[in-house]
Amino acid sequence: MTPDSPQQPEASLEALEITEAECRRCGTLIAGLDGRYACPVCGWVNHWSEGHGALPAGSDDPDASNRLS
Ligand SMILES: [Zn+2]
Repeated sequence: MTPDSPQQPEASLEALEITEAECRRCGTLIAGLDGRYACPVCGWVNHWSEGHGALPAGSDDPDASNRLS
């Protein structure tokens, strides 16, 4: 290990697509992931279908059986 070696948390963050947009309700500049946004100021969120990637189905959630029981 050298002091110049890259740190793993930063490397993994670069793999995520972080985008910015204005909140459509209050205009605050907010950051999102893969086209999905949530405004911390007014609580606005964009529609799930505006995300860049497909959402996992409910059956893909390992906790689904716990929630439905
Ligand atoms: Zn807002």
